[in-house]
Parts: sequence; C-alpha cells; structure tokens
Amino acid sequence: MNESVIIAPISESLNTFLSSSEYSKVFIITDNQTKKHCYPHLKAVLPGHSVVTVPSGESNKSLLTCEKIWDAMTKEGLDRHALVINVGGGVIGDMGGFCAAVYKRGIDFIQVPTTLLSQVDASVGGKLGIDFQGFKNHLGVFNLPERVLIDPVFLKTLPEREIRSGFAEIIKHCLIADAAKWHEIRQNDFEEQNWTDLIAHSVKIKQSVVDQDPTEKGLRKILNFGHTLGHAVETCFLNKPASQRLYHGEAIAVGMIMESYLSFSRKMIDQQTLTNIEEFLFATYGKVNIESEDIEEIIALTRQDKKNKGNEVRFSLLKGAGQCDFDIVVSASEMRKSIAYYLG
Ligand code: NAD
Ligand code: MG
Repeated sequence: MNESVIIAPISESLNTFLSSSEYSKVFIITDNQTKKHCYPHLKAVLPGHSVVTVPSGESNKSLLTCEKIWDAMTKEGLDRHALVINVGGGVIGDMGGFCAAVYKRGIDFIQVPTTLLSQVDASVGGKLGIDFQGFKNHLGVFNLPERVLIDPVFLKTLPEREIRSGFAEIIKHCLIADAAKWHEIRQNDFEEQNWTDLIAHSVKIKQSVVDQDPTEKGLRKILNFGHTLGHAVETCFLNKPASQRLYHGEAIAVGMIMESYLSFSRKMIDQQTLTNIEEFLFATYGKVNIESEDIEEIIALTRQDKKNKGNEVRFSLLKGAGQCDFDIVVSASEMRKSIAYYLG
C-alpha cells in the first residue's frame, strides 16, 4: 500500500486534509531553516498548533534530538489523537516520522518535504529513522504517513546546490525505470527542467517500486543504482576538508557514472548509453577529484553496503537505459577499473 501524495499549494492541500479530520492537536516539527522559509506557508491555514524547531543538518538526526522532540510533545500534552506535521528535508522527515511512529506507540503524521531530494525520494516509501553512533539510519522503522504534501514553491528558497543534489535522484529514477523520460531530461539544461513534472514522475516510479517490494527483499534494491560506489565516495570524502565535502546527490552522480561503466563492462548497456550518461552527469556535476590514495578506501567502503550478503559486494546495474537489475556480484578489480574509467 502506498502513501497518498498530493502535489499542490500547501495551504490548499493542508486545508483539505484538516477539514476532513478531527485531531486533538497539531504539532509541527521544523529545523531552523524550514521554520524561517517554509513554516510561514502553513501557518496561515493552521488552527491552534505548536511548533518545535531543532537545529538543521545530518549531525542532528540523532537520539538526542529525538529526546528534545519527545520532550516537547510531552510538555504540549499530545495524546494519541494528535497529528505531527514534519516540515523539512529528509532529516526532519525521517526523524520526525520516527518520533511520531514511536510516541505513545504511534500517532498520525504528515510529511511536508521541502527539499527536492525529500520531495522525490525521502518522503516516499515509509523508511523512517535516525543515525546512531556514526552509523547512518541505524535505528528506525517502516511506517507510512497519512499524507505527503508536496509544494514546489519551497524550492524557491532552497540553495541551488541542494536542488542539483536532489536532481541526481530524479536522474536515477529515469535511468532505472523510464528511458523516454531519461532522453527528455538529458536534452534540457539544469535551469530548464520542469521540477513540478519531474517530482510527480519520480514519486510515481518510487511508489511503484516500493509497492512491489516494501521491505527491500529484492526489487527495491534497484533504487540503489549509483549508491554502492556513490555512498562509498560520499563516506570517503567525509574525512576531507569541509570545502571538499560532497552533497549526497553529487556523490551519487559519481556512483552512477562508475556503475554505468560496470553495466557496460558486463555488456548490459551499449557504448552509446554509457556515453550519454557520462556526458550528461559530467556536464551537470563536473568531475570530483578522487585522489589515487582514495581508491582502495572507496573499494573497501563498498563492503559496508546494506545490499551485501556475506563477503560479496552486490550492485544494482542498468540493463539498457530505463531498466535495472539487482544482486549483481562485482569484484574489487572490476570496481578498480570503473574508478579508473571515471578518472579518465
Ligand atoms: P536536509 O533535511 O538536511 O536539508 C538540507 C538543508 O536544506 C538543511 O540545512 C535544511 O535546513 C535546508 N532546507 C530544507 N528545506 C529548505 C527550503 N525550502 N529552503 C531553504 N532551506 C531549506 O537534507 P535532505 O537532502 O533533504 O535529506 C537528507 C536526508 O534524507 C538524509 O538523512 C537521508 O538519510 C535521508 N533520506 C531518507 C530516505 C528515505 O527513504 N527515508 C531517502 C533518501 C534520503
Ligand atoms: Mg539516495
């Protein structure tokens, strides 16, 4: 079963939802950015409500922040008939959803994703959680929100680098599931992309995949295309000076080039498809400066991937543009070649 996603001006979609429901209280979770930029869009249509604001950023997606949220919920006297509204990117959505899912054994919540990444990816699919002791999304649950209310207006205040980062997940959705849409987006410059249309398209693809495999036993792994080497690159760069840190989507763009090369080397895609992918991704994201001493670390880091089984590193690889296969075991020497290919 899918969550119900509505793409519309937030005042309208929220009004419609609230007028047909009877909650004892409405409790909003924001971070300091979304409190300033996004909450004002909701405030006008909300009756009495309370707001908790937590510091923004992945480092705050923690048990400590959850405690602050649960503390505020308790002080506000939220009962089991209250509604939580998460207003923010993936950090607030994952953490606020987790807080709602366990508060008094679970109360209703709505996702109002405000970054492109959370609109096309994080807010859909029911994964909620927080980081723990340095492990990403280590604690969490699967649970669906009452609604996902998406309003592209929020992108107006989102820094361009965040939009570009979210775009990588849109590109991924096209590459794994819709060749025609892939050819459409690759003809356009970044500035010309139609975000409203692309958000709706991505949500549809993610929902259809998740619907067939909600708890990632098989097919859902295709959503991880670009993420095995991409995550490894992202993690490797965490130890570099702040000026070299990569946003998630930037690392996934690197991963998609390397994993397209792997798909090509396994004869799953042809030369032209590989060329199209790398040209578009290099034009959109540039080339990341991976040093020769990073290479073995990146390969070692792929062992941490959640898709692995035993000692094998398993990839989701393209089979033609618009299709993807999963559980493909790739050796370290093949990975080495794909990194060398990326570096040119
Ligand atoms: P984020 O939530 O940290 O948001 C990025 C930054 O943008 C933050 O500083 C935030 O305050 C700011 N911001 C948000 N909306 C804004 C707006 N409209 N205007 C101005 N600033 C705004 O990051 P993200 O990229 O949205 O999400 C990343 C998180 O999502 C990670 O923790 C990741 O694990 C999670 N995620 C979850 C899933 C899932 O299936 N649940 C999928 C993908 C990613
Ligand atoms: Mg991702």
